[in-house]
Amino acid sequence: MTARRQDTGSLLLAVAAALDGRDRVCASEPGLWFSDDLGEVAEAIDGCHACPAMAACGALADVAHEKYGVWGGQHRDGTVRRRLRLRQAAA
Ligand code: SF4
Repeated sequence: MTARRQDTGSLLLAVAAALDGRDRVCASEPGLWFSDDLGEVAEAIDGCHACPAMAACGALADVAHEKYGVWGGQHRDGTVRRRLRLRQAAA
């Protein structure tokens, strides 16, 4: 087993342990977590901040090199993150 695959397995277990049987809030509205609409992206990020698995989920997305959507309270596409920062700065 490769180190990356082992990391992914342990992080998946860490996510499940943090959720402790509760549903992931992102599972109920997956469209928000993969939206390009900045308002929806901000809503998804807020949802992650209320999620007990945020740290493990973010680490899992790092290991998996996720490039799309919101994982662990952060959009994985740098372009979307920049657009969101500009929008927040202008507000
Ligand atoms: S941190 Fe966000 S993306 Fe990860 S499981 Fe929780 S709600 Fe879903």
